[in-house]
Amino acid sequence: MHYSPQMNQTILDALSRQFSAFHKTLNNRDVASKESEQLAVEFPEQGMGFEQLDQFIETNVQPNLSASNGGRYWGFVTGGANPVATYADWLVTTFNQNVSKGGDSVASAIEQQTLAWLCELFQLPQTFKGIFTTGATAANLLAAFTARQYAGQQQGIDVAKSGMKHLDVSIFSTTPHASMIKSLGLAGFGQDNWQPISCNADEESMNIAALENNADEESMNIAALEKALMKCSANSKIIIASAATVTGTDYDDLIAISALCKKYNAWLHVDAAFGIFERLISGTEGKTKGIEHADSITLDCHKWLNVPYDCGVFLTKHLSLLQASCEVTAPYLAGIFNETSFITASKL
Ligand SMILES: *Cc1c(COP(=O)(O)O)cnc(C)c1O
Repeated sequence: MHYSPQMNQTILDALSRQFSAFHKTLNNRDVASKESEQLAVEFPEQGMGFEQLDQFIETNVQPNLSASNGGRYWGFVTGGANPVATYADWLVTTFNQNVSKGGDSVASAIEQQTLAWLCELFQLPQTFKGIFTTGATAANLLAAFTARQYAGQQQGIDVAKSGMKHLDVSIFSTTPHASMIKSLGLAGFGQDNWQPISCNADEESMNIAALENNADEESMNIAALEKALMKCSANSKIIIASAATVTGTDYDDLIAISALCKKYNAWLHVDAAFGIFERLISGTEGKTKGIEHADSITLDCHKWLNVPYDCGVFLTKHLSLLQASCEVTAPYLAGIFNETSFITASKL
């Protein structure tokens, strides 16, 4: 498809107009649109042309959009996109790189560099490698796949290839995010097939003073976890920890949990979608202390980094398990997998 330079310029000018018009309204626009029904427009036999389309969007669509991109939106814990992050997002679309094949483009190296920077920012060991995802839900889904592959590896089963029929695994968690429960369903474990470990607020041992201090009520009770692990006879064990829970903003004790994971040979996934940002204030000795011992971590950039929705991150110390759980061979894909596309680019 070839557009003339003038047409490209017309489109860019229109984009810039829409951007300014929309951003100008963000401080006053309703955060929920009154008009969210589908537009009753018949499928046209002929296109209306770009300028009319642009006008149509400005007149009919813009007025009925939410101000979720602004500072007054509290519907979810997503942040609005900064203009400079929007610019970056537009560039990604403009360049439109196909990165399924390592070596075609510098794009994958930039992705790996950025992930390495995030590890540096959060003071996580550079042994964590990973991938950007469409949000924390997708990262939690990759976590379920990778943990599943790990359990299979312990039991001599390549789950990606032969399924999980013979897999013997128990999953433990206290207050998993809804997206983690959904992911357990999508990954074939079953949404209800995990053992709830009581939270600290349930335990009599929790003293009232601690509760009044808003101590981590939704967090996992460590003694209860150890009891459950001791009783567990499954061949593989997976622990899903929170840093932090979305309703109570409570952090699991990751030092204690990771020590138990080591003792009982269990996989540790930490959903740190928005809670990781506490690490920027308190460093490695704060509420996320111990997250560095996790096998995998979920992060969410569209929570506090003000990048456009959607953008999450999945990190793991066991990249080969992630690869094994997701890769497939086909004649048209033969030989294109390139390990270097997964390795941090040192040249950038
Ligand atoms: C937001 C959030 C998710 C899901 O994130 P999406 O990016 O909306 O998919 C998962 N876990 C936690 C703890 C979250 O806060």
